[in-house]
Amino acid sequence: MTSATERLQWLPAVHVCVADPPSAVQRLSAGEMLERAALDAALDQVRSAVLETPDRFASPDNVKTAVAERWVEALEGLLRPALMPVINATGVVVHTNLGRAPLAEEAITAAVAAAGHYTPLEYDLEKGTRGSRYAHAARWVTFLTGAEEALVVNNNAAALLVAVDSLAEGLAVVVSRGELIEIGGGFRVHDIIAKSGARVVEVGATNKTHLEDYERAIETREVGAILKVRRSNFSVSGFVAEVGLADLCRLGERHGVPVIFDQGTGVLEPLPTAPDEPSVNDALADGAAIVCASGDKLLGGPQAGLLCGGSEWIAKVRINPLLRAVRVDKSTLAALEATLRLTAERATDVPVRAMLELDPEALRARAEALIEALTPRTQAQCQVEPHAGRAGGGTLPGVDLPGAAVRVAPKRFSAAALERQLRLGDPPILGRVSDDAVWLDVRTLLPGEMSIVVQRLDEIIGATDSDTRG
Ligand SMILES: *Cc1c(COP(=O)(O)O)cnc(C)c1O
Repeated sequence: MTSATERLQWLPAVHVCVADPPSAVQRLSAGEMLERAALDAALDQVRSAVLETPDRFASPDNVKTAVAERWVEALEGLLRPALMPVINATGVVVHTNLGRAPLAEEAITAAVAAAGHYTPLEYDLEKGTRGSRYAHAARWVTFLTGAEEALVVNNNAAALLVAVDSLAEGLAVVVSRGELIEIGGGFRVHDIIAKSGARVVEVGATNKTHLEDYERAIETREVGAILKVRRSNFSVSGFVAEVGLADLCRLGERHGVPVIFDQGTGVLEPLPTAPDEPSVNDALADGAAIVCASGDKLLGGPQAGLLCGGSEWIAKVRINPLLRAVRVDKSTLAALEATLRLTAERATDVPVRAMLELDPEALRARAEALIEALTPRTQAQCQVEPHAGRAGGGTLPGVDLPGAAVRVAPKRFSAAALERQLRLGDPPILGRVSDDAVWLDVRTLLPGEMSIVVQRLDEIIGATDSDTRG
């Protein structure tokens, strides 16, 4: 019997492989560099396989075939985009791990056009002179929020950083202990402020902060700003108290201290699904100097941070050198402009907003239609169930969105195995496993995705049936 080490001699030499690549490698025409990288990976894999399971490689031909197969797979893997579209069947609308908001068609078109062309990003077509990158989307932000002025930066965290730094460099920023939140990904508001030129002064207790706590802090030191942070990703109840934004603004006014409100969600006007969620517009009406909000949460636009507020305060941000470090790119601005215009038109085609407003009956009908489209054998393993969706993205904590899911309980393998097959397919479909079934919430399916889900379910569940028959 040939030993594993002897079988390793059967691995073809690199120059032999390169001289005669498999036809699939040739068809991919990826170029020498990528072909060679994929070949190296394939040879490594087969080398390990021969050592681990030598019996699978009975002849030099077996080894050669394995190298060719791995080579094609490795090259396909290299060429596959890492950020391919995935189907979100979780019912979580602003899914942070899945890139938050999917854009509206018109926002996509605008972003693509800006990306592939020259665009008057910093040019005033009217005057034929240099213009401002901040004028375009900001025009819509002021229109929609009633703010005197607005600026758009890379994201909400950046908006908060520049706002605090612009208003309170070298001074204190007073913030309630109950609002020093972690915004996800391990980032904390406290640390962001610490990185600005301002100093955090915590007031109150975790559960309760009173107006006097703020007042005392303001009277005893030089304060650049009061910060109020929307606890956007959790809610508190019980023995709690916080000071409302309007009261804080009145206090600030008495002492000549501006109030920054980190609103987060990007809700401009009160939402039908969450009427109590503070909106940017209300915050400005309450007297906030600057309100910071995300572009890609409930506004449903691209990743961006909005700064809205009084001219006097936004002017300070405008001249802050940090602004350059957090500036926003042209495609984002184009997508944001389109999203804001659709918002102003009350158009129904901003996906995030449309998904939030879908009612349970419409969703049940959608889930029924999905099951109806399956082959009878797959149908028998599926049923429509009520399922609560979520706004997600650290927004609207505690708000359930009543809806519907297709509950798939596969007969011949585990729910975990089905979830895995759906997740590793092309395109990946992401659902949730619970009580021996995969739950596919139909709220977050985009147009055209339902038929893909139908096809994949039929393939996976049908394939197993024919396997067991054959
Ligand atoms: C989401 C959120 C942030 C961070 O926003 P990004 O756009 O992720 O940078 C900051 N503050 C609050 C209150 C938030 O909800």
